[in-house]
Formats: sequence, structure tokens, C-alpha cells
Amino acid sequence: RLAAYARDRDLPSVTCDGANITLNMNAGLLIDMPHLHETGACGVGLYRTEVPFMVRSEYPDVKVQADLYARVYEQAEGKPVVFRTLDIGGDKVLPYFQDQAEENPAMGWRAIRVALDRPAMLRQQLRAMIHAANGQPLAIMFPMISDVQELLNAKKALNKELDRAKDRGLSLPSDLSVGIMFEVPSLAFQMDAMLPHVDFISIGSNDLLQFFFASDRGNPRLDKRYEALSPAFLSLIRLIADKCREKGVSLSVCGEIAGDPLHAMALIGVGIRQLSMSPRSIGPVRSMVRTLDAKALEAFLAVNLDSPAHSLRSLLIAFAKDHK
Ligand code: PEP
Ligand code: MG
Repeated sequence: RLAAYARDRDLPSVTCDGANITLNMNAGLLIDMPHLHETGACGVGLYRTEVPFMVRSEYPDVKVQADLYARVYEQAEGKPVVFRTLDIGGDKVLPYFQDQAEENPAMGWRAIRVALDRPAMLRQQLRAMIHAANGQPLAIMFPMISDVQELLNAKKALNKELDRAKDRGLSLPSDLSVGIMFEVPSLAFQMDAMLPHVDFISIGSNDLLQFFFASDRGNPRLDKRYEALSPAFLSLIRLIADKCREKGVSLSVCGEIAGDPLHAMALIGVGIRQLSMSPRSIGPVRSMVRTLDAKALEAFLAVNLDSPAHSLRSLLIAFAKDHK
């Protein structure tokens, strides 16, 4: 089966009614990078920079970070990579980073909250990314943004690093795009204020789902209780997609659901056109895309999003079977 998917890696990821669906890959370590070419993914939609930090025994300095990101560029061979700044805290603990025990770490001092309170760490990481880009395009994404000011403050840090690089005569990125992870529901009510400041948004559905339903993503007792195929969650995704389309902001989904064919199908049905997923999911999702009638699915979902059902799973499975 895997061999069959490898054979299909150059087939276009287009629905049978002509919608282009961009399939990107999530990565975190250099060993993930060869999959970019094996799977035929368009690029890396989410590079989780905290992963190399987690496997080290001490905090990497700017040079170590820049070398690492430069190797990511090398291995991407010109395909685009979105670098997410450190998403530490919550379930991702750095052994050498002094931390206080928290009662609710998922909602605690993590990700952009740490970065803005420890600006030197953020600045060093941004500096390393600018060095590594070395005149190539650079895409940076900030995690766990929950209000517009957090983004604006993170962008200030980025601008300071760009000025610093310019003062030193370094090559600046040929193209810079700045985006955020949509993981906190509060952003749904700040879209008009937020969108003018971002080039792209990526929905982190793992965290978004847990905060949307107030349901711990790591608690096995709640595993099956709430789901992304619920009318409420799909309505939220549709709202985000509609706003982004209206304002011309690029949108993708990079949480685990993007790599599950049934979920990916539902996401396309509410307007998502870019998905980023683990490498093993690219083949199966591409096969689904190539047999999907996106317009028919959109119409089908539109009338079901107001349903009082707990989940639209069985309806979506029936749709998939009927449209085989
Ligand atoms: C997410 O929350 O969906 C996401 C992609 O980020 P992470 O899984 O790294 O928290
Ligand atoms: Mg997340």
C-alpha cells in the first residue's frame, strides 16, 4: 500500500470538481525531512522547532539553532517551510528550562506567552531563522496567539531582528511571511482586527478542539467525548475559512485531524484548501481528495451544520460511500 502511495506522489491533489488542495507535511526533526520528497508534499506546513530543543540537554545558542534551520532549508530543496517559534510549556517540557509546576499547564505559561516574557529567547530564535534563511524566503508562525497585541509584540521583536541583520549587512529574507496558529477560540472574535496583520493562519486543531470544548486533549477518559466532526466545531472552521477567504489570507489546518481522510474531507467541505499532516497521511489524504466532489460536499454540509447531532460522522461516512 505504501508503495502504491509512493507511486502516486506526483499525481495532482485536485478534487474531481477541480478544487486544488495543497498537502503539506508536519516535521520537527531533520530525520523527518526526506519524507517531504518521498511523499510529494508541497512543503512543510508546520516545522515544530521545540522538538530539537526537547531532545537536547542544554539550551541551544543562536549558532546551533541557525545551523539546524539551515539544514532544514537544505533538505527542503526549495520547497517552502513554515517555522513555528518555540511552543514549550504545556505538554512540551524542556528539561533544562526552569519551570514551576502548574495546575493547568495547557492553559498556562506556554508558547508565545513564554516568548513574550523572555524576549531574549524569542529574539535569538528569530535571529537564527533570519541567518538560516540567508536571503531565501522565510515563513514564521507564532503559536498559541490569543489576542492581537501578542502578535503585534512578537512582530516588533521580529522587526528588531530584521533591523539588526540589516545593520550588519546580512542578507534579508527575499520574502517574509508571518502567520499565527489559530488554537484559542478567542481569535474567532478578533478576525477583523487580526487579519490585516497576518499573511497566513494555520489552525492547530489539537489545541483548538481542547479549548473549544474545554476538554483535555491528553485525557483518555475524554478521548471520544467531543469531536471535530461536530456541527459546532465544523461551524467554527467554516467561520474562520469564510473570513480568511474574504480578506485574502492564506489558511491551513495543521492539527492531527488534517491527516485523517474523513476529517480532511469534512475540512474541505467547510472551505479548507490547505492541509498539513504527518508524512504517512499524505498518500491516503491525496487519494481521498482525488475522488471527492467538493461542491457536492459543501452543499451537503451546509444544510447539516445546524443539526443538533453530537457528530456528523455517520452522515459524512454515508456521503463518502454514496459518492464513491
Ligand atoms: C495543534 O495544536 O493542533 C498543533 C498543530 O500544535 P501542537 O500539536 O504542536 O500543539
Ligand atoms: Mg498546539
